[in-house]
Amino acid sequence: MDACDVLIVGGGPAGSACAWGLRHSALRVAILDKQKFPRDKVCGGWITPEVLSALEIEASEYAPERLLQPITGFRTGYIGGSPIDTDYKRTVSYGIRRREFDEYLLRRSGARLLEGVALASLQRQNGSWIVNGEIHARVVVGAGGHFCPVAKLTGAKPARENAVVAQEAEFEMDQRQRASCRIRAEIPELYFCADMKGYGWCFRKENFLNIGLGRMDQHRLSEHVAAFVRFLQAAGRITFDVPASLLGHAYLLYGVSERSSVDDGRLLIGDAMGLAYKQSGEGIRPAIESGLLAAQAIAAAQGNYSRDRLRLYESLLQQRFGASGQDWASKAGQHLPSAWVGALGRMLLGSRWFVRDMVINRWFLHAGEPALTRAVQ
Ligand SMILES: Cc1cc2nc3c(=O)[nH]c(=O)nc-3n(C[C@H](O)[C@H](O)[C@H](O)COP(=O)(O)OP(=O)(O)OC[C@H]3O[C@@H](n4cnc5c(N)ncnc54)[C@H](O)[C@@H]3O)c2cc1C
Repeated sequence: MDACDVLIVGGGPAGSACAWGLRHSALRVAILDKQKFPRDKVCGGWITPEVLSALEIEASEYAPERLLQPITGFRTGYIGGSPIDTDYKRTVSYGIRRREFDEYLLRRSGARLLEGVALASLQRQNGSWIVNGEIHARVVVGAGGHFCPVAKLTGAKPARENAVVAQEAEFEMDQRQRASCRIRAEIPELYFCADMKGYGWCFRKENFLNIGLGRMDQHRLSEHVAAFVRFLQAAGRITFDVPASLLGHAYLLYGVSERSSVDDGRLLIGDAMGLAYKQSGEGIRPAIESGLLAAQAIAAAQGNYSRDRLRLYESLLQQRFGASGQDWASKAGQHLPSAWVGALGRMLLGSRWFVRDMVINRWFLHAGEPALTRAVQ
């Protein structure tokens, strides 16, 4: 039977980061993914510099062969309203393409790669796992995204969870579209829904355009997306239609998930655990950080992978991401009629101070929260 110490199910940012975090351990680490890389992933592809720092990636090392779009500011408003520009005049974020980024992380992770192999079964036997009836593993890390099979096989019920739902299209613009597109690559545009239950984005990354919208309310998502595209067209930001093939996905914000992060011989990381930042929905940074924290807990367990030993991961997650709780609009919605919450949000989005200090600095950039480098861990 094939054997490894740590089997990571899912080769997205969370899984690759966990393997990378274990690269100097003597443990035999393998990543299993149902897809062969490069593969597409439904995502806006916006990352903060702290993502690169945590994984010790130099922009100059990543960029020459891959798209790395510097972002120096944001245009922010609500759908139907007048936007505000916040310009930092320095790089505060990047745009990446997930098919390039995820493959890069996977190949540099140092793990043995089992691509194009889906997790079909997981059995517990004598304190270890038998995966797909043929791989023996001492620890299994669930990194398979929101619908992670490890999470499901160990109790998660995605259909009953209160997930964010989102749709997105990323496409290469032709010459005519490039010439008429008013979205500036270094200033992505974010527009909140009038009821503050989600937001739409329009990111230009060199010749690619990524348009999408995510909401905490699962009803009539396609109608909200269509209204957002009409708004962008009416405002002259784009003059063409978005390809019909918008792709959808779901994921949990931190604090909503009731999944348990650890059990005997098992940890959940990234979207499998439901860790995306609650205000921005950014999920790549928490996915990577949770992968690194899981690696730290696995290494510290020194071969004893009981739930009690792995609970270090649970406390590291809590230290890093804080107490769970709702986003501001959901919290406000418990005390105020929803029309008031929408009106309050629209009013605040007209304040330059609120947009810069609260929306962009605090909610989107997490300014002041240093990268999870080894010094911080
Ligand atoms: C529309 C949309 C836009 C988003 N935009 C952004 C953004 O701009 N910035 C940001 O930071 N976050 C964004 N997010 C969130 C972000 O995409 C996720 O939080 C992030 O991808 C989580 O990484 P992960 O490694 O946990 O999971 P994933 O990236 O989902 O990787 C999971 C992997 O597991 C594999 N897998 C699944 N099932 C199996 C199986 N049965 N067997 C084997 N392998 C399996 C998959 O093939 C996949 O490769 C967005 C999400 C959506 C839906």
